[in-house]
Amino acid sequence: MAADDVASPFPIAVLLSPEAQDAMCRYAVEAYQRRGTEWGGLLWGQLFAHPRGGVVPAIVYATNGACDATPTRCDILPQSWELGRQELATRGQHHLINLGDFHSHPKLGVFMSHDDIRSIWSYADVPHWLSLVLDPWSEDFGTFARCGAREVCRVPTWGLDEGVARALGVPAPLMTAVGAF
Ligand SMILES: [Zn+2]
Repeated sequence: MAADDVASPFPIAVLLSPEAQDAMCRYAVEAYQRRGTEWGGLLWGQLFAHPRGGVVPAIVYATNGACDATPTRCDILPQSWELGRQELATRGQHHLINLGDFHSHPKLGVFMSHDDIRSIWSYADVPHWLSLVLDPWSEDFGTFARCGAREVCRVPTWGLDEGVARALGVPAPLMTAVGAF
């Protein structure tokens, strides 16, 4: 079973635009202030193959989700995809793919809960699928993805600045408006 070593389809690093990071924090803080719950949404961008194997997702946009959320759980509802695509369309972004989802752990820290692990495996047919967890109150976030046939790992994540975005040909970092609030 050496096939996994030959051309891993899993993320080996992630690039994240500051605008997407800001938007996620804003959505998370707003939801916590209003509802006292976790919150989440979707990650959009482009996917690059690394010449040594593995892929590098570049997240340029985070859209707000419709969620069924409690203080310790967040289910991202199916209509989030339509809402996300509408938001992207209004920004003129038609070439971004859904790279994964994000949700907050208000004041709980960044980790993958049992439910989070189950959720990431529900996307087993999407090897690049990212699950980003953020806790703005501890100023921390973590990007998780599959890293093997049976493993989920935290993936090193770097800022996607304008120069890198230009070099990769991804849309320039976007000035996100204040979502739907
Ligand atoms: Zn979680």
